[in-house]
Amino acid sequence: MGEWSDYFEDFPEEAPQPPSAEEIAKAKLKANIKAMNADAFALIAETKRKAQGAEQQQKEQYLDSTVECPQCGESRLNVYKLKSDRFLCECQDCGIYGTGTDFSSALHQTAGAIGDDIDWRDSSLFAEYGK
Ligand SMILES: [Zn+2]
Repeated sequence: MGEWSDYFEDFPEEAPQPPSAEEIAKAKLKANIKAMNADAFALIAETKRKAQGAEQQQKEQYLDSTVECPQCGESRLNVYKLKSDRFLCECQDCGIYGTGTDFSSALHQTAGAIGDDIDWRDSSLFAEYGK
């Protein structure tokens, strides 16, 4: 039973080669891109968080009531009566949302989205109807 080094002496083309300068450069570039992406994602997340904070503050003035969520059952479904007289429901717990021209149609649309796995924190309708 020979050693690996014996084997590679017989088959030098199969011996592990030290990485070439090109491979090292490639790996370095890859690591740099990964680091830049991480920075970019962190910046995006931070920007998003700030924008959401500002939006939440703006929203509060339109808060009309808080009712039971048709999806998760928590009494954390915020109902906003927006400037445009449009109603917007957003669950603070599970994230489901819906809108309508009155409270019942907004609640109806919210209930219709059960199981759709939507979250107003990902794409808020407030940006669309709130201003
Ligand atoms: Zn909910």
